Amino acid sequence: MPLIAVTCRHSHQQGVSHIQDAYVQAVEQAGGLPVVLPPSLSPAASVDILSRMDGLFLSGGSDLSPYFFGKPPHPRLGEVEALRDEQEIALVKAALGLGLPIFGICRGMQVINAALGGTILQHIDEDRVGAIQHRQEAPGWHRHHQVEIVPGTMLAAALGPGAIGVNSFHHQVVDQVAPGLTISAASPDGLVEAFESREPWILGVQWHPERMIARYPEFLGLFELFCSQCNNKSMQQ
Ligand code: MN
Repeated sequence: MPLIAVTCRHSHQQGVSHIQDAYVQAVEQAGGLPVVLPPSLSPAASVDILSRMDGLFLSGGSDLSPYFFGKPPHPRLGEVEALRDEQEIALVKAALGLGLPIFGICRGMQVINAALGGTILQHIDEDRVGAIQHRQEAPGWHRHHQVEIVPGTMLAAALGPGAIGVNSFHHQVVDQVAPGLTISAASPDGLVEAFESREPWILGVQWHPERMIARYPEFLGLFELFCSQCNNKSMQQ
């Protein structure tokens, strides 16, 4: 089974790293062996560990520092986990060099975009006129808004083309998509909800499939797609 490096949250106030169960369980359920890397590791040690892995999974969390995409901080910027930012940017760049598949959820998708030279919209409600609500108060499994999946993409192969309901727990979103990435889903207000690349293998989704699997098993398919790519990578070694 492929070894999957999994990133997690970090509280600099408490000096504690932590991860929600759903991420670890989804990777395991999809046939991967998750290895959680706390942001308290140095970026060098994290990259060393990654070099023995078969894939990189970036979980959700708080806001990426705009330092990493060259913008000044928006007044509504939330908590920033700077150690984690440094670790994850280093991991994404290393994964590209190692040829490892990368899957990012929510913040993880935004980190991939920034590491590849894209930018992030720092507060949807003020920066995008006409945006719908992207921070639901409903339970995590609830299909808060629809996204339109682009036909012919890997995402369409996993979930089917056309409209699908997803959850939404973000106040930031990908703005300028990094070179080499293809938009594979958008929300009704035109925001980027998923992107991908086949070579290097990258998948990013702005919603949280891990919180929907119990009720909507099709979302496990995204983790299975990723883990099968990582398994291919591990067989080549
Ligand atoms: Mn959304």
